[in-house]
Amino acid sequence: MLSKVISEDLIRKTADALEKAERIVIVVHVAPDGDAVGSALGMWHYCMTLDKDPVVIVPTAFPDFFDWMPGADRIVVYEKDKEKADDLLQKAQLIFALDFNVPQRLAGMAEAVVQAPAKKILVDHHLQPGDFAQVVISYPSISSTSELVFRLICRMGDFEKINLAAAECIYTGMMTDTGGFTFNSNKQEIYTIISELIKLGVDKDDIYRRVFNTYSEHRVRLMGYCLYKKMKIYPEYKAALITLTEKELLEFNYRIGDTEGFVNIPLSIAGIDFSVFMREDGEKVKISLRSQGSFPANRFAADVFGGGGHLNASGGESYSSLEAAIDKFENSLPLFKDFLEFDEQ
Ligand code: 5GP
Ligand code: MN
Repeated sequence: MLSKVISEDLIRKTADALEKAERIVIVVHVAPDGDAVGSALGMWHYCMTLDKDPVVIVPTAFPDFFDWMPGADRIVVYEKDKEKADDLLQKAQLIFALDFNVPQRLAGMAEAVVQAPAKKILVDHHLQPGDFAQVVISYPSISSTSELVFRLICRMGDFEKINLAAAECIYTGMMTDTGGFTFNSNKQEIYTIISELIKLGVDKDDIYRRVFNTYSEHRVRLMGYCLYKKMKIYPEYKAALITLTEKELLEFNYRIGDTEGFVNIPLSIAGIDFSVFMREDGEKVKISLRSQGSFPANRFAADVFGGGGHLNASGGESYSSLEAAIDKFENSLPLFKDFLEFDEQ
């Protein structure tokens, strides 16, 4: 038996809203990752079994290593199909907002979602949920939104309605948001859920290969280049920085998702507990921050780059040059020295 986690009141409100709504839209954050796509499609498959009319809308495209996910071909990309997406949002009776805490994480789609007349249900695991939804299912201690979707469906008494397609999507989200169960993954119940998903037919080894072992040659060479030429180590701050200019990305034929996971690699170096990756992206610099132990990547992201996220996985953006972002990073490291853990001598 799983512990309850989601409060009874929220379960009741969600079940009630689902019963009343026909046209359901499911939205997730900009630059969707595995948990965003997985939780959205998990919910989408579930709504399909209820004979509803659900649509997943993502603000921007997702990496093509998620294309195999059942239902991925039906996802509407706001940036590419704005008119259709705006119409769907306006006509929706219920909107599920998954895997983000505040509308700003929807980038160009934020206003359309906030203004939509539909009832909104937030299901998320980031800190500090915003107040744009009528029902707020926010549990930052849970390692993925996909896990929350599984729990939500079960608590509504609908475990039987989780089919293999939904199970595969939910598993993908749980796997990617824990780096293949290498962080945020010590809770026993994660494995109880996985066991249920495997019973439903999920081939977890195959999903791992589809997501992590189908990269392009360009991506792998770009990774090599980053580690060989572009990784700077700051031993006194237990930190590492990798940066890529737009020109370099172009040289390696960059496609969305190609730099996913690069930020984690320096953490495999002994003595490195904080890793930052920056890449030029049009007029902004996209910044990813990862830490291990108690070093607060989210606080660094918030204080230095106006971003946020989880303790060990955060992000932010900078609208000045890459050089300025690097300067900011280097100047801020000393301010965070007190958060570093050093072994007792
Ligand atoms: P990633 O580095 O994979 O883009 O993001 C890691 C986590 O950081 C995300 O799950 C999200 O919680 C958070 N995050 C990423 N970018 C931003 C951002 O621009 N602003 C805020 N507040 N959080 C972000
Ligand atoms: Mn997530």
